[in-house]
Amino acid sequence: MTDAPKYKRVLLKLSGEALMGNGQFGLDPETVNQIALDIKEVVTMGVEVCVVVGGGNIFRGLSGAAAGMERSTADYMGMLATVMNSLAMQNALEQVGVETRVQTAIPMDTVAEPYIRRRAERHLDKGRVVIFGAGTGNPYFTTDTAAALRASEMGCEVLLKGTKVDGVYSADPVKDPTAERFESLSYKRVFTDDLGVMDHSAIALTRENNIPIIVFSIYETGSFAKAVGGEGCFTIIK
Ligand code: UDP
Repeated sequence: MTDAPKYKRVLLKLSGEALMGNGQFGLDPETVNQIALDIKEVVTMGVEVCVVVGGGNIFRGLSGAAAGMERSTADYMGMLATVMNSLAMQNALEQVGVETRVQTAIPMDTVAEPYIRRRAERHLDKGRVVIFGAGTGNPYFTTDTAAALRASEMGCEVLLKGTKVDGVYSADPVKDPTAERFESLSYKRVFTDDLGVMDHSAIALTRENNIPIIVFSIYETGSFAKAVGGEGCFTIIK
C-alpha cells in the first residue's frame, strides 16, 4: 500500500480489452475481480473514483461498419457493450464490498441510473464508485473521449488509463525489445508523433481542461494505487 494519495478525485478508464484477461473475447471473471480489488484499494485510500469502461471486448462500431453495417447503428451496439461491462464491473466491486452506481449516457432506467452530473457528485461524496456507461451517448465517439469528458465534468484531477502495458513506449514493447518507456510526455508530442495513447479528441479535451493522463498497467496488482500515489511505473502526459 502506498502513502498519501496525490489526488482526491480520479477517473479510471478501462478498455474493454483490459477485462478480457488472456481471452480473445468477452469478460474474464478473474481479471474483473482483480481490477475490483485494485479499485477498492484506491477507495480505501479515501480517493473518489469515477470509472469509464470501454466495450472493445464485445463490439466495436468500426468493425461493424467495416462489415457493412450502418455506422451509427454499429456504434450504438458498441455503447450497449460498454453497459454490459459496466454492470460486470459493478457486480465485482459490490462483491468486494465497494458501493457502486452505474450511470448511463443512454437512458435505460430499469438497468442503471441515467447520467446526471449532480447525482454522480452526491454518490462520490458518499464514497461510492460511479461507473459511467454507454460512452458519450453519441455515435462517432469513443470511450476515451467519454472518459475525458466525464473527467472534465466531474472535476477529476487526473485521468488514469489502465492498459496491458505500463506506459507509453517508443515502439510496441511486445514486438520491439529496444522500445523505451516515456516517463513523461507533453500533449503536443502525443499529437505530433501520433502516439496512439488515446484518440485526438480525448487528448484535446484533457489538454484544454489541464487534466493529466497517466498510462499504467492495470494487470500489475496494486499499480492503480501506486499511480494514484505518484509511485510505480507509468507515463504521465501533461
Ligand atoms: N462508442 C460510441 N460513442 C461513444 C463511446 C463508444 O459510439 O461515446 C462505441 C463505438 O462504436 C466503440 C464502442 O462503443 O467502438 C466501444 O467503445 P471503445 O471502442 O471506445 O472501447 P475500448 O476500445 O475502450 O474497449
